Amino acid sequence: MSIDINGYSFDSGSIFFWDDNPQFVMFPGLLERCVPVDYALNKLRPDGRVSNYPFSLEEFFSYGLLSLPRIFTSLLISKWRSRKIRTAKEFMEYYVGRYFNIISGLENYVRRFYNLDPALIGSDFASARMGWIRDNGSFRRAPRNVWLRLFPSRQREHTQAQTVVRPRAGFADYYGFMTDALGASGVRFQFGRELQSIKRVGDIFEVRAGDQSFLAHHITSTIPVDIVLKLAGLRAFPGLNSSRLITLCCSFVGKCKSSSIVLYNFDKQGVWKRLTVHSNSYGEVRGAQYMSIECLCTPELFDVNQLFSDFVSHVNSRKIFQGEINLEYAFELDYSYPIYTVTSQKERELALSTLREFGINSVGRQGGFKYIPHSTLIIDSIRRWRRTLA
Ligand SMILES: Cc1cc2nc3c(=O)[nH]c(=O)nc-3n(C[C@H](O)[C@H](O)[C@H](O)COP(=O)(O)OP(=O)(O)OC[C@H]3O[C@@H](n4cnc5c(N)ncnc54)[C@H](O)[C@@H]3O)c2cc1C
Repeated sequence: MSIDINGYSFDSGSIFFWDDNPQFVMFPGLLERCVPVDYALNKLRPDGRVSNYPFSLEEFFSYGLLSLPRIFTSLLISKWRSRKIRTAKEFMEYYVGRYFNIISGLENYVRRFYNLDPALIGSDFASARMGWIRDNGSFRRAPRNVWLRLFPSRQREHTQAQTVVRPRAGFADYYGFMTDALGASGVRFQFGRELQSIKRVGDIFEVRAGDQSFLAHHITSTIPVDIVLKLAGLRAFPGLNSSRLITLCCSFVGKCKSSSIVLYNFDKQGVWKRLTVHSNSYGEVRGAQYMSIECLCTPELFDVNQLFSDFVSHVNSRKIFQGEINLEYAFELDYSYPIYTVTSQKERELALSTLREFGINSVGRQGGFKYIPHSTLIIDSIRRWRRTLA
């Protein structure tokens, strides 16, 4: 989703793509429409300092020399203790140690995803979303990581993909390019039709949408699992819940403590999870910068104005911005991320097999109830499914 407000171009994700994403091979010319960006990421730590995300050597030394033996001892103890990784908390402690998990604010960050204690979040979330912890916290990879930190020029050889963002004109332009190309090869799109039901008659499915019937041999669904179960008249799985995301779109005149395109919130306070500075990609407007701020709603904080006040009072208390922040717009998104509790995995498998038995292949972030952090993975999953059909 993207929108132009007062000359500012906001969006709520997918925000970044890498030029090795298969969509750029599928749609020649699409990459050239995108804007290359410097993908530098920062985080706000619980001590109020801003440092590189996810970790940096400077960060370790900034805790003081006395902390280093404690970080290391805690890591050794945690590795020894956590033989079986069942929860996100165990995953994080295994790779970074209990002590560093707390002082670095990693635990706060993960808690903020679902407003849940990481001890109640399944380890499947951690492995889907936090491969970077495994990459940075594994003993086996430590020598290579230290080498790359000491010689960052070598690192570039390993991360050659260029980060890009959608065109300044918005996602309509980006996806419009794809639908035009697919349309030219015979694909028909029907937008804005409300789905009413899916029925199966023998080997044929009848999909009713916008008071019209469509007949098909195969159905692939990427819409939320609970909605497609209901459309097909199948049983519900109430344990499959997703979080609700509100993205605040703000303009800002003044200075910011972080110059990177993304700032993650690892602090204990503030309900916001991450901010993305779009003006780093598309340029300032009338001397103002602009950004989107992702906030996951909690039972206490779920209203746009409440979330905006919470954000402003938190960043002011940490002196992140010097200047006035204005709220320009807000995106509201249900089903933003599937909530992986320690028990949801079983329900997810049952729901998907119920749909499979009915004949619907349900995939993706909402359809597969999968935490898919970036779009390359959804393309891979569709390709795998097509191979099994062939
Ligand atoms: C906030 C956020 C930021 C992200 N940032 C990035 C990023 O920077 N880079 C990146 O690569 N990936 C990013 N992702 C991940 C990326 O969005 C997903 O991997 C990708 O969108 C998954 O594709 P999908 O088709 O499974 O789901 P979706 O893209 O969510 O597609 C599902 C579609 O179904 C539609 N739908 C729902 N209900 C119905 C209904 N009843 N009838 C009809 N249609 C319906 C929805 O509107 C939606 O368009 C981000 C995700 C989020 C939530």
